[in-house]
Amino acid sequence: MSTSSSAQSRLIGDKIEFFCHCNRQLRVQTSTSRANPGKRYVKCDTCRVYEFLDDDLPSQYYKDLVYGFFQRQRGRDNGPMIEALALEKSKLEEELKVTKSRLEDELNSRNAK
Ligand SMILES: [Zn+2]
Repeated sequence: MSTSSSAQSRLIGDKIEFFCHCNRQLRVQTSTSRANPGKRYVKCDTCRVYEFLDDDLPSQYYKDLVYGFFQRQRGRDNGPMIEALALEKSKLEEELKVTKSRLEDELNSRNAK
């Protein structure tokens, strides 16, 4: 735990919430950086307050382990999203083709009259 008094934790219901000294509620985020992988932190963009909630991992071995976990997770998460976007794109292209040919048909039939 950090000993700095910039961010304060308050127990609300059964959840600990964090607040900046400017009274803004701070969202707990998890770092995925190589230097501090897996460490939770809170930050206030207004005051540039940045505080870690967890202690450092005991060794570089653990850091690499956790960092590797995030790297793999990132790769897995992006895969299905890219597939979904590609599918969406091909659907839209198909729709565009149909709409275009309908418009052309309509124009042709109008011109024929
Ligand atoms: Zn603040």
